[in-house]
Amino acid sequence: MKVPQLDLNAQYLTIKDELEAAILGVVRQHAYILGPAVEKFEKEIAQYIGMKHAIGVSSGSDSLLLSLMALNIGEGDEVITTPFTFFATASCVARLKARPVFADIRPDTYNIDVDCIKKAITKKTRAIIPVDLYGQAAEMEDIVALADKHGIKVIEDACQAIGAQRNGKRAGAFGWVGCFSFYPSKNLGACGEGGLIVTNDDDLAVRFRALRQHGMTVVYHHDYLGINARMHGIQGAVLSVKLKYLDRWAKGRQAVAAKYERLFAEAGLNEFLTPPVVMKGNEHIYHQYVVRAKHRDELLEHMHKATAGGTIYYPVPLHMQPCFKYLGYKQGDMPVTEQACREVLALPIYAELTDEQQRYVVDTMKEFYRK
Ligand SMILES: *Cc1c(COP(=O)(O)O)cnc(C)c1O
Repeated sequence: MKVPQLDLNAQYLTIKDELEAAILGVVRQHAYILGPAVEKFEKEIAQYIGMKHAIGVSSGSDSLLLSLMALNIGEGDEVITTPFTFFATASCVARLKARPVFADIRPDTYNIDVDCIKKAITKKTRAIIPVDLYGQAAEMEDIVALADKHGIKVIEDACQAIGAQRNGKRAGAFGWVGCFSFYPSKNLGACGEGGLIVTNDDDLAVRFRALRQHGMTVVYHHDYLGINARMHGIQGAVLSVKLKYLDRWAKGRQAVAAKYERLFAEAGLNEFLTPPVVMKGNEHIYHQYVVRAKHRDELLEHMHKATAGGTIYYPVPLHMQPCFKYLGYKQGDMPVTEQACREVLALPIYAELTDEQQRYVVDTMKEFYRK
């Protein structure tokens, strides 16, 4: 058997006609960039997340970059974030000539550790970018309270957590702004690149709408130095269709996650694997289902030979990336993150994953540990 890590085709087949009609609609209108489909999606998603404004942009990476640009972040500024995330969370800081400052993570949820943020705050700190990793919100209330105390802004990187909730509030709705990605493999995936910024601040929303098109509020009048980061009409149309199914897909992923735990117990694998920990008050949407595994690298090799999936998010922490060498971090500076990099393993998860496929994944793992 072959179990893909993610099967985009399985999802596509369930909404094929609706999706293709929506795309064709945009093509026939030639509303390729922004336009009615994007405006419709912005209204729907703002309501879904529970925020006043949603601004469609070109990618999750650009949503983070534009957020820092709106704060005028630049040389001499520091921005605190986690070293255990996708590169874009920290590269946006460095691209603006500010300094990414890393704060270590919690060993249970892999999200940024609030005590480590406290220790990293200096007079130069302008913002904190917590990440809702793997689809579970970070301790956003505590982070926002800490930031408020110091007069700094919180940019919530919810790129992996669309639809997740914490104490009844959606991920992305906690900070000064929330950032999302619609990269095709995300839980809400476009047919190409896409991203989103959400905010409750009216003036800020106007500013983001300008910043995503070269800082123009009136055409050819540039109030700010912006970039080209507009959402495409086709993506707006695709995302409107898919948004209707997002909660259903999340329930499917949650069922797969619960079943993994049952199957691990049945297979006697609990001494080798630590399943994901969901913090009290959190609803996890399992963008990734990540376990800590003993002998991780050998296990992964065995799984790949058996075509049973398995991927590592993330093998190298950001403070050890060659391009961040100039920041001066060394091995041992972020021990919890470094250990996670050696032990985490993401297993196949998506709403359409069959019982047979899931059992094959766990049987393959059992074969490795029990031989
Ligand atoms: C995917 C992702 C991004 C970047 O989004 P793109 O749309 O790929 O640019 C940023 N942060 C996190 C945590 C992500 O998972």
